[in-house]
Amino acid sequence: MSIADNLKKYKSEVESDGVKLIAVSKTQTVDAILEAYNAGQRIFGENHVQEMVDKQAELPADIEWHLIGHLQSNKVKYIAPFVKLIHGVDSIKLLQEINKQALKNNRVIDCLLQVYIADEDTKFGLGFDEVIELLRSEEYAELKNIRIVGLMGIATNTKNEKQITVEFHELKVFFDGVKVSFFRKEDSFKEISTGMSADYKIAIEEGSTMVRIGSAIFGKRIIKHFKTDSAN
Ligand SMILES: *Cc1c(COP(=O)(O)O)cnc(C)c1O
Repeated sequence: MSIADNLKKYKSEVESDGVKLIAVSKTQTVDAILEAYNAGQRIFGENHVQEMVDKQAELPADIEWHLIGHLQSNKVKYIAPFVKLIHGVDSIKLLQEINKQALKNNRVIDCLLQVYIADEDTKFGLGFDEVIELLRSEEYAELKNIRIVGLMGIATNTKNEKQITVEFHELKVFFDGVKVSFFRKEDSFKEISTGMSADYKIAIEEGSTMVRIGSAIFGKRIIKHFKTDSAN
């Protein structure tokens, strides 16, 4: 199937469950993204800052760009003018830098706190206790140009569906607790970003509100980095 066909299929499938589709376009060409755009997609996810900046400059202005990968503080300034949502925030230091750059751009930037749910050492994220600590801190209370709109998680890369289900379920239970404790009056705190090509169905069953799907739409990633070899 073509990119356009895949896009329409996944978009209608997840949207019928009331879930947002983030089309993960990392390493994909501008032409491939345009094909998805012309098939109706407006939300795209990238995990490298330079790649997202380059693509944003070339593609239609009504695209919502989501930064889904690990973000280094010194790169925040490049995306601060336009980024719609930053999924992988995992420290108060990063949040402070996002706040500073958002202020410079006279805007409020929406963020998700990345929570560590996988049984793997390599994934970034905060532990449950660290999320609570951050939300209770005075440093956080001072930040007026960021808005935390939910949580993000990446499940263990495994074929064990039971384990993936448990991990997403624990995140949902934790989300509900955080909502009651810290965001009861804020309707904007409502997003759970979980699920990728391999596990989005489980994620949706376990309360995901936005799934990040790449290879199932665009096919295998061929080029490793678009235009640049530098990491984030
Ligand atoms: C690459 C990536 C995805 C998409 O992965 P696919 O398996 O290609 O769907 C989702 N989330 C994050 C954080 C990613 O880096």
